[in-house]
Amino acid sequence: MRRAAGTVEGASAGDVFAGQPCFFGPARETVAFVLLSVYNEDGGNAMKRRFPVRPVRQEAALRGTGTEVKAKRMEQIIIHVDMDAFFASVEMRDNPALRGKPLIIGSLPGERGVVATCSYEARRYGVHSAMNIKEAFRLCPNGIYMHPNIDKYRAVSGQLREIWSAYASAVETIALDEAYLDVTAQAGDLEGARRIARTIKQRTRAEIGLTCSVGVAYSKTAAKTASEEKKPDGYFEIPTPEDFVSLIIDRDVRVIYTVGQMTAEKLYASGIRTVRAIRENPETVIRLLGKQGQWITNLAFGIDDRKVTPYCPQDAKSISREVTFQEDVTHYGFLRDVLVLLALCVEHRARRYGLYGNGVTLKLTYFNMKSITRSRLIPACDSAVMIWRESARLLETVEKRPVRLIGAGIYNLSGEEGRQLTIEDFFDDARARRDRELKELLDGLQNRYRLDFAGHLEQLYQADTLHRTVEYMRKHMK
Ligand SMILES: [Mg+2]
Repeated sequence: MRRAAGTVEGASAGDVFAGQPCFFGPARETVAFVLLSVYNEDGGNAMKRRFPVRPVRQEAALRGTGTEVKAKRMEQIIIHVDMDAFFASVEMRDNPALRGKPLIIGSLPGERGVVATCSYEARRYGVHSAMNIKEAFRLCPNGIYMHPNIDKYRAVSGQLREIWSAYASAVETIALDEAYLDVTAQAGDLEGARRIARTIKQRTRAEIGLTCSVGVAYSKTAAKTASEEKKPDGYFEIPTPEDFVSLIIDRDVRVIYTVGQMTAEKLYASGIRTVRAIRENPETVIRLLGKQGQWITNLAFGIDDRKVTPYCPQDAKSISREVTFQEDVTHYGFLRDVLVLLALCVEHRARRYGLYGNGVTLKLTYFNMKSITRSRLIPACDSAVMIWRESARLLETVEKRPVRLIGAGIYNLSGEEGRQLTIEDFFDDARARRDRELKELLDGLQNRYRLDFAGHLEQLYQADTLHRTVEYMRKHMK
């Protein structure tokens, strides 16, 4: 194990520092890990990661360092609040006739799309969020289906935020109904955090008429896991990494919240089914999944020292671009192509401000000046491909009448810093795939309109060039 003095100042590009070794876990299976800081070309701190090294005996590790294992205290106390079936609960609160019914908010049966949220009554039929609406309808044909009313939920979200902010030094909103709170200073200790959690739950019920689940823990990951643990109207705490590990060690790898279906299947194929197996085979996991594998391994050891980063999405509302045609358009294939350019413009602007959306909107104004918007919740959405794909799907759901204006955008914005870790952050090939898809889209446009889109993206981001290009495309569409 390499050791360094612990200072990381004055490092230059490519330097890797091993910080002080730390220890987790009961003595028999103590894991030493080192904190590595990797620096950008410009000297900025690109990332800090703790790399576990082979399990060692605590005594042996200590002999090597001369340090003592200090009594554990909570360096951070983090609360994760998650509203229960948020959209559905708001609708049920406001309309007593919906209470006790299987209520499904999202797309309507017959539309393409997914379930955004559903009531617990609907969950009894096996319906869950992100489920294809067709499947939901098959399982629950007698459910009540509604489109989301995002403006209303956003207003409630603002009220929630006021409550949360009263007890935290930082609030990181990761969805309208979900946030991390850093309560380290306000709580002082675990008992203080319990009091805060209780107060938040009481006030949410009394002032807003909704229930939430609250997790208290030493890390963001553990807090999120804790709030899931006793849903709905739950409370759970995970004070230490040991508690976290002993809670999840025999569970399926999917308990680690960045492990989705695809990642899980890769792990299963290598015989890794549980968190325990990840801990026992870190090399395999890292070989299989690269950076993401490193992150998953860290989480399997309870390691996550990410901070709660304050962000107030209410500051920014949405980013969108639209174009008005010189003549009304009836060719919807052409509209899909225009959406590629709009998505690129939205992506460009979002990246410039370090923002990403948690939903995609499509706006159309028909020939008779009637405007409609359609939206769909998509977490961590900032790539042109995602924006295009979702807005194009939304386009399929609308009434096909002549169109005068089309717009695409993202909403429910969050900052780069507050970005919830997604698989894509750790998955270089996911990013590569996205780039490939974008290239395919642009090649398709080039074939259809005989314009070099890829070579002129910078110009396309300018409103007048965009309009001229779209008009050119309209006149030359096949
Ligand atoms: Mg929720």
